[in-house]
Amino acid sequence: MPGIRLQPGIIYGPILSRRLGRSLGINLLPTDRKTCSFDCLYCQYGPAKVIDLTKTQIVFPSVNAILQAVKHALMKPRTIEMLTFSGNGEPTLHPDFVEIVHGVFTLRNELRPEAKLAIFSNASRVVDPNIISTLGMFDVPMMKLDAGDVTTFQRLNRPSEEIDFNNLVSSLRKLPNLMIQSLLLDGEISNVHGDAYTAWASLLAELKPKLIHIYSTSRPTAYAGVKSVNAHRLKVIADELEERYQLNVMAFD
Ligand code: SF4
Repeated sequence: MPGIRLQPGIIYGPILSRRLGRSLGINLLPTDRKTCSFDCLYCQYGPAKVIDLTKTQIVFPSVNAILQAVKHALMKPRTIEMLTFSGNGEPTLHPDFVEIVHGVFTLRNELRPEAKLAIFSNASRVVDPNIISTLGMFDVPMMKLDAGDVTTFQRLNRPSEEIDFNNLVSSLRKLPNLMIQSLLLDGEISNVHGDAYTAWASLLAELKPKLIHIYSTSRPTAYAGVKSVNAHRLKVIADELEERYQLNVMAFD
């Protein structure tokens, strides 16, 4: 199934994000294909072969090009509440991710101290201690967690084969300021019913993230057979997680 258009450059927006307010997007990834270590059933960019960086030659934008683009964008007179690493796949796959974040952090402090730093990540590289410590520099480190068990993780997120779900979860426990984003869906594969739902909710209760965003698909998805979860059901789930586990949950329809 075709997805939405890829971002054509490094900077996009500012856009009025339903989850982050007025956000300037930073895309660290190539502009001609999705570059991700997952191939989620619901991906808005459509299906694509997952990336194994040990075997694939990919040309990423240079550190210099990224920092110049960010600097130029921050100097324009306009309101920016959030600087958000997201874009055409998984931002932490850029081989110079750590250096780039430090550079953007410095530019933010110099030019836009009022803006917060955010990242939407699938958490596949949190097993690297350097990535964990760098994610600690973000005000809003949103880590994807759609499943609480390995079977649902495999079926829903379709990760690169070297990614181990249990290692990923263990590493999430080390992330200060942990925030979770979970996409809930129904259909042939679901995380809102039965054992899959119970495992996901129990894992959240154990991780106790500072904040949880739950939402569903509102765009074309990578694979057929995916059903979105309606606003009422999202609200019921948010209330249940808050009451039962004292978690801070925001539902977005
Ligand atoms: S992690 Fe994000 S970009 Fe990667 S496949 Fe999943 S939805 Fe798409």
